[in-house]
Amino acid sequence: ATPAATMVGTTIGAQNGVLFKGGDILERAKDVDTVIFDKTGTLTEGAMELTDVVIFDADGQAITDGGDTAADGGQLAARDRLSEDDVLRLAATAESGSEHPLARAIVDGAKERGIDVTDPDDFENVPGHGIRATVGENDVLVGNRKLLRDNGIDPEPAAETMERFENEGKTAMLVAYEGELVGVVADADTVKESAKDAVSQLTERGVGVMMITGDNERTARAVAGQVGIDAENVRAEVLPEDKSDAVESIQDGGRQAMMVGDGVNDAPALAVAYVGTAIGSGTDVAIEAADVTLMRDDPLDVVKAIRISDATLQKVK
Ligand code: ADP
Ligand code: MG
Repeated sequence: ATPAATMVGTTIGAQNGVLFKGGDILERAKDVDTVIFDKTGTLTEGAMELTDVVIFDADGQAITDGGDTAADGGQLAARDRLSEDDVLRLAATAESGSEHPLARAIVDGAKERGIDVTDPDDFENVPGHGIRATVGENDVLVGNRKLLRDNGIDPEPAAETMERFENEGKTAMLVAYEGELVGVVADADTVKESAKDAVSQLTERGVGVMMITGDNERTARAVAGQVGIDAENVRAEVLPEDKSDAVESIQDGGRQAMMVGDGVNDAPALAVAYVGTAIGSGTDVAIEAADVTLMRDDPLDVVKAIRISDATLQKVK
């Protein structure tokens, strides 16, 4: 492109809230053949809300209507008397040390229900899996199946409950207390209004659309279904440190991918992508690693970026 065309394209981009980091990026964007979206905060609002609390009795049965209905002939161990509020208080206290959006939703949801949330006595973040905390004298775990398994606890009794929430696109988390499964809490996020249009417009242009997430397969597929991304194009349960490898392996097949993300976790993946795009209120780290920054929080601006690149360069050919 001529310097003049580059300047025009860059200016049009800026007027539309699409910031290209340089003329070469502006040229590259039109050659993107695959867009990989991060799920949380990119396709979804990233504003999680606590939606469900389910408690389990000693036999691993879900108890739906309050802790004291665990009819077990009075032979209840201490943990069986944990009510929904008890489980939520333990989970929220454990999570109050975490900055994760899932954790914030649990803490806020507990407070909204009038539960007293204190600080945990000890706390350990297990990235991509959950948290391990000490509340009072007791061990509390909140996280995914792998977190429980790694701590010698069988998540199987909660399988049906977990799957039910996950099929709704919610993130379900197991709560363990003193080495035993005591409950499941679920957070829901909402898909951004324009996410579906963005996916269909990219597809119409012949651009492949994929999704990458640390969330579990079932939740990921449910959300993908809501926005029109094929199940086979979903990469789920990708650990934060493995996101860039996942992008590289997609590109190894010769594809030129645009990775779109907002989080600190996404920065390495943005850096290895043919075009890295930071979206909306993305973290500084993500913006720094990105080639393109979308000022608004709108997935349709991904299409706009490609279209501006295309239009600018066609004019001068
Ligand atoms: P994402 O890609 O959605 O940001 P992460 O890699 O941070 O996901 O986390 C992957 C999974 O690990 C989550 O879906 C959740 O099951 C579990 N997890 C991570 N952090 C927490 C936490 N603080 N509390 C409970 N579960 C967590
Ligand atoms: Mg994210």
